[in-house]
Formats: sequence, structure tokens, C-alpha cells
Amino acid sequence: MARIILVPIDISDKELTQRVVCHVEAEARIDDAEVHFLTVIPSLPYYASLGMAYTTELPPMDEFKAESETRLKEIVAQFAIPEDRVHFHVKEGSPKDNILELAKTLPADLVIIASHRPDITTYLLGSNAAAVVRHADCSVLVVR
Ligand code: ADP
Repeated sequence: MARIILVPIDISDKELTQRVVCHVEAEARIDDAEVHFLTVIPSLPYYASLGMAYTTELPPMDEFKAESETRLKEIVAQFAIPEDRVHFHVKEGSPKDNILELAKTLPADLVIIASHRPDITTYLLGSNAAAVVRHADCSVLVVR
């Protein structure tokens, strides 16, 4: 079976993605791996907690998902990986839970994840990265 790599992408953060590109390309070359990109849209209550009245101010989830997929594809276009080995996933909910679930169902041989947002220097591992490192069954490459 082909080697499978899972790359979770936070589409709101360009710099994070920038740092993982060369690692993903290098790993993708080994045994012509299949590369799955995943972005997770945090659930609507998340926006509500930021004070947004999501029932009136936000577009429907389907529209959100379509836009997120377009954005994800734009971001992934900068990765030099043959198109036929690239796959896209858009999910809704908790990023860490969705990353772990997809890693299990694919099943992924490797997850490549950035450690945290560059501007948040208090922690060496962000909460999503930390949960993936701790709970994934497969190898995890944390890019710092
Ligand atoms: P921080 O809290 O500093 O943002 P995170 O642990 O959330 O740190 O982010 C580290 C990595 O987790 C990101 O580079 C990305 O790979 C993954 N990640 C975070 N949020 C999402 C998301 N919404 N969808 C997919 N992956 C995500």
C-alpha cells in the first residue's frame, strides 16, 4: 500500500504553512507518497464565543466549506507535489479531533504539523499540535 502523509493546514495562517512546505515535499518524494491536506473549520459556537451573532452574520456552513476548500487548494498550489497524489479534506469542529480521526481512518503513516503560530511564543507546542503528538498512532513530524 502507498505511504500516506497527512498535513493539517490552518488556512488562516500563511506563515505556519510556509515552514512545513519543504518538509512535506521531501517526505512526499519517499516512495511516491499520497499526501492528504486537511483544514478544519472551528464550529460555529466558537464564533459566537467571540461575540459574533453567527445566526445572522455568518454564511451557511456549506458556503464556508466551499470557500475553505478553495483557499486550501490555493495554499497547497505552492507545494511541488504531483497533482494525482494530492487529496483535500475539509471538516468542521475541533481541529485536533478531526486531525486524529482522519489520521486513523486513512490510515496515515506520518502527520506533518507546525508546532505553533510564530507569534505565540509562550508555548513550544500549540494545543492542536500537542494533542496530535500525544494521541496519534503514527509518526508525527513537528516543524519548528
Ligand atoms: P497555535 O495554538 O499556536 O495556533 P496549533 O497547535 O493550533 O497552534 O497549530 C499548530 C498546527 O496545527 C498548525 O500548523 C496546523 O498544522 C494544525 N492546525 C491548527 N488549526 C488547524 C485547523 N483549523 N485545521 C487544520 N489544521 C490545524
